[in-house]
Amino acid sequence: MHIPRFLKPNDSVHAELRQRITAYFHRRGEDSRGDIRLHSKAIILVVAFLAVYVHLVFFLPEQAWLCVLEAILLGGLTAAIGFNVMHDGAHGSFSKYSFVNDLAGLSLNFLGANVFMWKTKHNVVHHTFTNIDGVDDDLNARPLLRLSPGQKRYWIHKYQYLYFWMVYSLLYIYWVFFTDYKKYFLQRVGEMPIGKMKWTDHLTFWGFKALHLGLFVALPIYTMGFVSWIIGFLVYTFSAGLILSVVFQMAHTVSDTAVSTLDPDHRVVESEWAVHQLQTTANFATRNKVLSWLVGGLNYQIEHHLFPHISHVHYPAISKIVREVCEEKGIRYIEYPRFRHALVSHIQYLRELGRA
Ligand SMILES: [Zn+2]
Repeated sequence: MHIPRFLKPNDSVHAELRQRITAYFHRRGEDSRGDIRLHSKAIILVVAFLAVYVHLVFFLPEQAWLCVLEAILLGGLTAAIGFNVMHDGAHGSFSKYSFVNDLAGLSLNFLGANVFMWKTKHNVVHHTFTNIDGVDDDLNARPLLRLSPGQKRYWIHKYQYLYFWMVYSLLYIYWVFFTDYKKYFLQRVGEMPIGKMKWTDHLTFWGFKALHLGLFVALPIYTMGFVSWIIGFLVYTFSAGLILSVVFQMAHTVSDTAVSTLDPDHRVVESEWAVHQLQTTANFATRNKVLSWLVGGLNYQIEHHLFPHISHVHYPAISKIVREVCEEKGIRYIEYPRFRHALVSHIQYLRELGRA
């Protein structure tokens, strides 16, 4: 494939941002990676996950409503571990020690998906070519959803703003049982080839997939029976898929963010990389401390996309610098004050694309 290129202006916004943010950490004598705030949160989330898992698998409550509630909670905790532990770990921002980052990244394998594939899909493709249709795999939910004006429209898309949440619910199950294998066997994410896998990467891929099947399929079927397991497993994976999708989509596929399709013969983005990130990414509900804690700073997606190697615990502080630079350079800083504003905007976006 022709890899898209970005403009490289002399007056680079990215260089200016980097300089001010480096100075900020220098002044405070702080490391830009995760600290005790993140590590204590990781312990809380992992312990909570294990407690709910053990309770459901070995001490299944008699009341059906309690089982369903616990399965939803397990789905929420899976998403929270994904946002807070795996995501920072895979970006190398969880800790200053690389083996701790690797361990945090491996939480994704434990939860059924594969961190090697994720690093290509997310760190390389999505973070570099954000919202470029045909390259950014996050825009690909075809044929069920049309997420870019460059994608073919089918009659069913007229209703996508009504049924999108059902598609999102399927994301996790589809990821664990289908798209990971597709990437593995095709050795690419969309058009982008994945890095060369060493024999240890193959072993890790198959070893963790087998472990996941053992812990989340075979063992619960053995302890609670097939019917209870299938209901619980679907509730669990639907909750995780819905939460993961909504949080990730709200940052890029909303009415105010740009989506582009490049000329296949001339794959040049007409702006520098950092400006492209600012045009394609939105923040939401940044003043909501509980939400920020739960979604691992993914409501500060602008700061995350500009500085994925900085841990999300620092985003509230560095967002002030990013805003300042945007104001000085006359670049729009897209932010929705509350979660519901971003959600409404996402629904509007889906509605417009379903009709246009
Ligand atoms: Zn990321």
